[in-house]
Amino acid sequence: MDTLLKITGLSVDLPDRGGPVRVIDDVSFDVPAGTTVGLIGETGSGKTMTAMAVIGLLPDGAAVSGSIAFGDTDLVTCGPARLRALRGHEISMIFQDPMSSLNPTQRIGHQVGELLRRSGLPRAEVRARVVEMLDRVGIPDPARRARDYPHEFSGGLRQRAMIAMAMIAHPSLVLADEPTTALDVTVQARVLGLLRKLQVEEGSAMLLVSHDLRVMSHVAQDLVVMYAGRVAERGSTRSVLSRPAHPYTRALVRSVPAVRTKTAIADPLPGTSAVPAQRPPGCAFHPRCPLATGRCRTEIPLTREVAPGRWSACHEAEKVLA
Ligand code: SF4
Repeated sequence: MDTLLKITGLSVDLPDRGGPVRVIDDVSFDVPAGTTVGLIGETGSGKTMTAMAVIGLLPDGAAVSGSIAFGDTDLVTCGPARLRALRGHEISMIFQDPMSSLNPTQRIGHQVGELLRRSGLPRAEVRARVVEMLDRVGIPDPARRARDYPHEFSGGLRQRAMIAMAMIAHPSLVLADEPTTALDVTVQARVLGLLRKLQVEEGSAMLLVSHDLRVMSHVAQDLVVMYAGRVAERGSTRSVLSRPAHPYTRALVRSVPAVRTKTAIADPLPGTSAVPAQRPPGCAFHPRCPLATGRCRTEIPLTREVAPGRWSACHEAEKVLA
């Protein structure tokens, strides 16, 4: 399958009072065309920051190195004009909280059609496309509801409107940051089903950011597990969840009963997640890892292929896999 997005050695430093903090450290993975890749990890793992780097929406003062190849374009070096041209048309984003992403003073239809209007499409055509898109995302009576304001929509309908906005220009890559976290469980399932359906219909790829392994197990073909701004392991979702190659992933899997497997389980995960500003030396996971050795405390584990299609950044990956 063709690679749509190829991230290689991506690092992001953010300014801080005590000096720059490396919030993303040497992250590499691919997103094949037409597939969903899940970025999973605890708060502070760097998953959202990685997605923001892809779409060029990092905080002011961020220093980025490495490359993010999107087709022939390196999104790290292409410059703001090219990024603006790609945003919405080729790469779009669905945010976690539609209420803070939608403009409360503008009608839903106006916001969904904004990108098409800016592209110069005639008003009648924009309106027809907006109504069609609202219909496709399951908003009832779309011609009438297009005239509503965001506060007149339920949380689920607002998220559907955000999805309509993200998909209306047929992007080849959709970044979805915890797209269902703010919704109740039954609405979550419907919105996830809708996202999958649209993705298949449009042939888009999706980079899905979530802390929820159950969501990932239903939606993502490949998983990238992040810890303290680094990739812990990656591979197909099925293989990562059924046979983790990193102690952190194994603990994550164990913490979610629905995806629990017969894999040998270590003791419950102690401690709290390391934040990048206080990343310990060596392997950042070593203070919480039941397999940590002296080497783990001093030497950062390189990411290596530990089984066909499986990459792990753990000195003891073979023991974890055994
Ligand atoms: Fe644990 Fe060492 Fe592997 Fe880090 S490198 S996950 S501390 S065994």
